[in-house]
Amino acid sequence: MPEFQTSPGMRDILPPESARWRRFVHVFADVAERAGYGQVISPLLEDLGVFQRLGAATDVVTKEMYDFVDKGGRHIALRPELTASVCRAFVQHRPATPWKVWYTGSQFRYEKPQRGRYRQFDQVGIEVLGATDPYLDVEVIALGWEFYRALGLQQVDLLLNSLGEPDDRARYVAALDAHFRANLDALSPESQVTLDKNPLRVLDSKRGQDAPIVAAAPRIADFYSDEAGAHFEAVQAGLTALGIPFTIDAKLVRGLDYYRYTTFEYQGGTLDSAQNALGGGGRYDGLIESLGGPATPGVGFALGLDRTLLACDDEGVFAAPSTAVDVFVVDTTGGLEALRITAELREAGLSSDRAFDNRSMKSQMKAADRSGAAYAVIIGTDELDAGTVVVRPLRADYDPATGAGGQQAINRNDLLPHLQKVLS
Ligand code: AMP
Repeated sequence: MPEFQTSPGMRDILPPESARWRRFVHVFADVAERAGYGQVISPLLEDLGVFQRLGAATDVVTKEMYDFVDKGGRHIALRPELTASVCRAFVQHRPATPWKVWYTGSQFRYEKPQRGRYRQFDQVGIEVLGATDPYLDVEVIALGWEFYRALGLQQVDLLLNSLGEPDDRARYVAALDAHFRANLDALSPESQVTLDKNPLRVLDSKRGQDAPIVAAAPRIADFYSDEAGAHFEAVQAGLTALGIPFTIDAKLVRGLDYYRYTTFEYQGGTLDSAQNALGGGGRYDGLIESLGGPATPGVGFALGLDRTLLACDDEGVFAAPSTAVDVFVVDTTGGLEALRITAELREAGLSSDRAFDNRSMKSQMKAADRSGAAYAVIIGTDELDAGTVVVRPLRADYDPATGAGGQQAINRNDLLPHLQKVLS
């Protein structure tokens, strides 16, 4: 075992998987930018206070944050999520509203590592600040849906809920609190602790012992104001108009204190319940104000890259892209020709690779096979003297009966147009 390895919950993403990650972000960027979202690139570090504004009821903030005091005495945290950073950026730069942005990057949470759960993990997401329109909620939810479709995922379920207006939510939390306190002895010890922090989170409990008490709990729908009810109706009507199927899940509460109105989650049908949340989001108010900005509503989501790729593996879609090059140059004359030819091909837009260290013909041909290249270009001293090169197809399309696709000696000067023709 080497002396140094990645620390728990941290990973190296190597080729070809890294190419898949890059394409994932590329597909997401396409979906977001086609809808008028621009990318925000924010720092990995923020003042700890930025995340503390997310509220004391979330584990992400209270237990899982990587924080430290820097050399200037500032209390800094590695970001555990990006909504707070985007809101901090909004307050700092005051862009025109609605401000529609997308993001990607690594988040850090000191969690217990397991399949689909890491200490450094990547997300993509969007946020829109400055509009309350329920059809904006629909646009946001639909973009997540469209992204899963673009990846080729079929088995994604959309869960939807509304937490009502702040007053509705407060009355509901009080009723929930009373209900759980009346059944306190029957609740799991963990849920008793959660209850003291945030009664809503008890609804998230996956413990069997809590299930009957959770099932009998008051329902948020009975607490909606007229306005909250109308907002929720409009969101459902919008999703239906777009043909996006959803299930209302009254237990879907998001952790943050700022969530109100719409909440939603995308679940992967092939994953088990510990990591089937592919992503989620909702509407939030008050976060911008708590960061020192003007009262500004927000709505957004974050999707986990790792879990979404696990779901892609399960469904056999969105495989890692091929890293094979078009052409592998085999040069037994010292390597200068390989240097010239690979440079010429790359400049013309063909991908090409070569061997180094003046290996034997046999060893270079092996490397050419391993590279996955469609063609080998071979130069020995005979070819060099004659001003020719040999082009040999390496994939299955050679037909020995007709000789089509077979090896061919061609003029060195004709190499580029020849390869462009056979590769097109
Ligand atoms: P959250 O910011 O907690 O709402 O998480 C949004 C999404 O990020 C989740 O649905 C997961 O797909 C992903 N996610 C959250 N925490 C982790 C983690 N520790 N490891 C991998 N993915 C995560």
